[in-house]
Amino acid sequence: HTTINDFNTTPAPPPPAHLVIVPLLAQGHTIPMIDMARLLAERGVRVTFITTAVNASRITPIIDRVHESHLPINFIELPFPAAEAGLPEGCENFDLLPSKELFKNFWDALFLLRHPLEQHLKDLDPRPTCMINDMCNPWAADVAKALNIRRLVFHGPSCIYLFCTYALQKHNIYEKVTDDAEEVVVPDLPTTFHVSKMHAPGCFNTTNFKQLRDEALHAEETADGVVMNTFDDLEPMFVEAYKKMVGKDVWTVGPLCLYDKDFCSRIVRGNKLAAVDQDRMLNWLDSMEERSVLYICFGTLEKMKVGQIFEIGAGLEASGVPFIWVIKGVEKSLEVVKWLEGFEERMGLRSLVIKGWAPQAVILSHRAVGGFISHCGWNSTLEAVSAGVPMITWPYFADQFLNERLVVEYLRIGIDIGVKKPGFYWGEDVIPVMRDDVERAVRSLMGDGEEAEERRVRARELKEKAMKAMEEGGSSYENITRLVDYMHQAAATL
Ligand code: UDP
Repeated sequence: HTTINDFNTTPAPPPPAHLVIVPLLAQGHTIPMIDMARLLAERGVRVTFITTAVNASRITPIIDRVHESHLPINFIELPFPAAEAGLPEGCENFDLLPSKELFKNFWDALFLLRHPLEQHLKDLDPRPTCMINDMCNPWAADVAKALNIRRLVFHGPSCIYLFCTYALQKHNIYEKVTDDAEEVVVPDLPTTFHVSKMHAPGCFNTTNFKQLRDEALHAEETADGVVMNTFDDLEPMFVEAYKKMVGKDVWTVGPLCLYDKDFCSRIVRGNKLAAVDQDRMLNWLDSMEERSVLYICFGTLEKMKVGQIFEIGAGLEASGVPFIWVIKGVEKSLEVVKWLEGFEERMGLRSLVIKGWAPQAVILSHRAVGGFISHCGWNSTLEAVSAGVPMITWPYFADQFLNERLVVEYLRIGIDIGVKKPGFYWGEDVIPVMRDDVERAVRSLMGDGEEAEERRVRARELKEKAMKAMEEGGSSYENITRLVDYMHQAAATL
């Protein structure tokens, strides 16, 4: 039986887990980390999400929804040190950089966030009990150390890329390689897998970024665990090999894009304003036959050359397939705008050209969409997989060439358009993909040949697997349960 005295000696309950999320200020990284924040908050973790004024203003509808639904997420806006780092006012995200020359300044600005963040978190009540930082924000490791809390690293890219990066690094495989196109075998895999330095460049592998690379690798090594936006059935061999290699907790929790099923927040995912009238777009899509529309978008960072835009346009026109084509704000030169007038007139109702931000998650999951020309950014790849949409792969850099291999060779849900070298290897005048390549790939992806049909079936099966992974009992769902438990334990042992 219980006496009054027993009550008095019952220890106070441990403080609830309070997680600080430090995302990289790039939409390809922030979007999945917001999904993760909402998911963890829904599963009982209090979250402080670090952002800045400009970035917060891009996601105000999401922040409003978080507040309406009483999810315990607090968005903290740190002042962004643009001027100190030599950046124009308001340049608070990688996709707002006016030129590539300012790339390094942006990294410098991020590093300047370390002290303000530490100060802010020290004063926070209740105090943080755990941190998840983007792998590209190694400076956050010192903040977690100063607060004496556990820290996990979040990886935006695919596991195929991460595994290759670390395995090649660990065995110094590139040390003797002089030709970036030379093929080497990736060690520690059960099958023979060849890559080249050009296609599997590793982490920040240029001389300008040596310090950043060393710090990022060190921050990963010293992290208590790793959280990844992938699922076990998608790249099992690489997930297995990666877990074995890092020898610490690894939680695969994706595809995070499947967390958000609510139309109103999906339509504003990543940016509150789309450059297209929502009703017009949906009416247009609704009027199209099932799986007949091709979607073309190259993510948030690449700026396409004018000549390349013309080649894509000519290829799409010749293919006869209806399409939605996203041309980024930065690509809207006078020449392109003028050319588009005639192009859009010729295409008439067959096309919808979105000049700026597109609500990609909504487009890809519409029943009318049956194909996607993509740069193979990891989020775009996961969104295509989650929507059961086959791809035409057109990689540029970082993990994208390996993501292409995964999509084309392993999952067999895509056709490669034939890009051989990363974007920064091309000369100013080189246009890597010509109109005939575009037309050929589009016809075979969207056509009704046997191969195309089999590809569609595989894409649909993979979508089922992705959805299962995120449902109760699925691998990612269960990993999230374990991750949440881990965070509560970390809080209890502080
Ligand atoms: N995105 C979008 N609309 C656009 C461009 C991009 O919604 O007009 C989203 C896309 O759905 C994905 C992210 O931005 O979630 C881009 O991430 P990804 O990893 O594919 O490419 P990155 O931009 O990082 O190269």
